[in-house]
Amino acid sequence: MSSGARPKALEWSPIGSGGAGVPLTSGNYFAAQAVLLREMEDERSAAARRLASLRRVYTKTCPICGSEFEGIAKRMYDTHACQVKAYRQRRKQREAAVN
Ligand SMILES: [Zn+2]
Repeated sequence: MSSGARPKALEWSPIGSGGAGVPLTSGNYFAAQAVLLREMEDERSAAARRLASLRRVYTKTCPICGSEFEGIAKRMYDTHACQVKAYRQRRKQREAAVN
């Protein structure tokens, strides 16, 4: 077996590459599958890390009623009522700025 005979499948990107001209001889097919599985695994763990960081719980203070609460990173207000109140305030300010 010569070392220069690597299958071309390693250069083939399975995602978003049109799919034309993909070699489907059995050897290359399995090599491509291996690459695909590896890429999917990388992507999945990256997404999992991202989700975990979003899920991290912080102690926050609600800017509307001032009470402390625990929420994930993107949470701003302790209750839905405060969220709505904040939205109405923002809208009122925007209207005041226009008039
Ligand atoms: Zn609140």
